[in-house]
Amino acid sequence: MTSPRLRAELNGIPTYKPGRPAAGGGSVAYKLSSNENPYPPLPGVMERVLAAAENFNRYPDMACTGLMGELADRFGVPLTHLATGTGSVGVAQQLIQSTAGPGDEVMYAWRSFEAYPIITRISGATPVEVPLTAGEAHDLDAMAEAITDRTRLIFVCNPNNPTGTVVRRAALERFLDRVPSDVLVVLDEAYREFIRDQDVPDGVEIYRERSNVAVLRTFSKAYGLAGLRVGFAIAHEPVAAALRKTAVPFGVTQLAQDAAVASLRAEDELLGRVGTLVCERTRVHEALVGQGWTVPETQANFVWLRLGERTAEFAAHCDEAGVVVRPFVGEGARITIGEPEANDLFLRVAEEFHKKL
Ligand SMILES: *Cc1c(COP(=O)(O)O)cnc(C)c1O
Repeated sequence: MTSPRLRAELNGIPTYKPGRPAAGGGSVAYKLSSNENPYPPLPGVMERVLAAAENFNRYPDMACTGLMGELADRFGVPLTHLATGTGSVGVAQQLIQSTAGPGDEVMYAWRSFEAYPIITRISGATPVEVPLTAGEAHDLDAMAEAITDRTRLIFVCNPNNPTGTVVRRAALERFLDRVPSDVLVVLDEAYREFIRDQDVPDGVEIYRERSNVAVLRTFSKAYGLAGLRVGFAIAHEPVAAALRKTAVPFGVTQLAQDAAVASLRAEDELLGRVGTLVCERTRVHEALVGQGWTVPETQANFVWLRLGERTAEFAAHCDEAGVVVRPFVGEGARITIGEPEANDLFLRVAEEFHKKL
């Protein structure tokens, strides 16, 4: 018997590797592998989610009316320039489906967010991966030179996952000046709220000036709603309208919508937590440098260690000590900034490991 025919494009697509959970089994274990927010949900947000749960026999509001209105006010953009989705990964996939298919090219830096190659290849488009610079940052000149008449979409992940490096204003403007206006540039700002470098532009300001720029944001990181799956894009009309067409109907649950609205209203408190995590980031970064590590400057909620061939060994050491990190075998490890005890534990493992290098 033959099996059903599947699209050839699916052959060899890497499957998304989620960060492993912390091991159970009694010993203390911390999950620093998925860039999650270590704080538990705010009581007020939890209340809204529990209230929404009373009605989960009903479909959610497909238009996400409440959330869209809140976002339009918060960012000062028209409703027609907004689209929501099942996490910003969902919206990123809709962006590709809206712009690229077989024969088209989708460009991004590499290494960057591991969902990009997957969602690109699912669409049948060709990934164009432009290596990071020696400093682990986007090589925007090389990216501009790699544009062809088949390029349809370019991701700029700012700050870059997993290296934490940023693209600054002048460099981004220079790059955008070189991108043809019919090529969509997506500024993936999943970690926007963690940025403290004043020279990193707010993508929303860039979008206001350029019709081919879209901004991706998420509630998963700073707002702590990773498990509820809600993200959004701000984009000019033809693009935002295409996103609404390509959305999975009812993809964003009412729980997620209500939690997102409650989170925007509790922004002061949530951004206070982000401030604490940013302090921890500084502490961890300085401690690693003090131990002798080379660590790229990070503006996100994680640090990157380029361990090369020793990556798997390092990750195993961390595991044994009760802290789970995210290895990219043969390249390096990404370690999320967590609660202070988790960071302390990680720093102890890193110190021991560095002494053996
Ligand atoms: C975490 C992350 C996302 C957001 O994922 P969600 O689907 O919103 O949970 C998007 N882009 C990058 C670069 C990320 O690291």
